[in-house]
Amino acid sequence: MSGEFSLIDKYFAHKQQSRKDVVLAQGDDCAIVAPSNGSHIAISTDTLVSGTHFLADADPAHIAHKALASNISDLVAMGASPAWVSMGISLPEMNASWLERFSSAFFKLADYYGIQLIGGDTTRGPLTITLTVQGLVPEGKALTRHGAESGDWIYVTGKLGDAKAGLDVILEKNISGDRELNSELQRRHFEATPRVLAGLALRDIASSAIDISDGLISDLGHILKRSNVGARLNVAELPFSDELVRFVGGTEAAQQYALTSGEEYELCFTVPEANRGQLEVALSTTPFTCIGRSPGLVS
Ligand code: ADP
Ligand code: MG
Repeated sequence: MSGEFSLIDKYFAHKQQSRKDVVLAQGDDCAIVAPSNGSHIAISTDTLVSGTHFLADADPAHIAHKALASNISDLVAMGASPAWVSMGISLPEMNASWLERFSSAFFKLADYYGIQLIGGDTTRGPLTITLTVQGLVPEGKALTRHGAESGDWIYVTGKLGDAKAGLDVILEKNISGDRELNSELQRRHFEATPRVLAGLALRDIASSAIDISDGLISDLGHILKRSNVGARLNVAELPFSDELVRFVGGTEAAQQYALTSGEEYELCFTVPEANRGQLEVALSTTPFTCIGRSPGLVS
């Protein structure tokens, strides 16, 4: 697009301290990276389209946060530590204040997790953001969806349901009379962050993992299908916030939200009986809850 170079320079090029494993970032035909020996590279791409994944008039800071957080969440669900990101962005117009807010929020999160923007492409068109993230995982240590076995215990990190309630508020589908509660749940939707430390700590402990982006039922379903095992969930153990109960008006409704809410970027993972004891130490800074077991052994 015309003015592409100045736009890239102004908002996207060389805004971060370079990682040691980045040989060449923006400015040439390709970026060059140098992963250390013994590392595998995990790669994931996600596209966010205006009107489908966010409202056209959404705060650009929220769009940037969501785009990067959801991509980083895919990396950590594999046990990969975030390293590099490329951005394809299509913009309907050159809007300086929009770009300013978008890029500052993007780099704030990117710097926090040590992931470096190494390249991309900028075009004119309907607002769309495609990110390709790459992360590092020691050879053979990636957490997959296909490793769960009969008898494994099923866990989730954090609390579930707030992101769906926040989305209800944003879409004005369901709004509580309590304005502070509405805005708190909306904030939790927009500011959800990926469970990076937990994902890395689970490498040696979990048999499978996935990030919850479509809802627990659906995402746990992916693990079960790929691992070819079943699950018995203890719905009474589902973790959710007091704010969610207030918002939906009761425990049962909160459980429904916890089962179907996505985009809080919590992890769902399975752990073999033999590794259960290590969880407390490995996840010492992350809240987690056992919500069931893959049937096969009598508990
Ligand atoms: P090319 O003509 O080779 O496709 P471009 O003009 O598209 O190169 O981009 C010039 C440089 O700027 C490249 O190094 C590219 O990776 C980088 N770049 C373009 N758009 C973005 C963006 N949105 N974010 C980060 N880097 C970008
Ligand atoms: Mg290009």
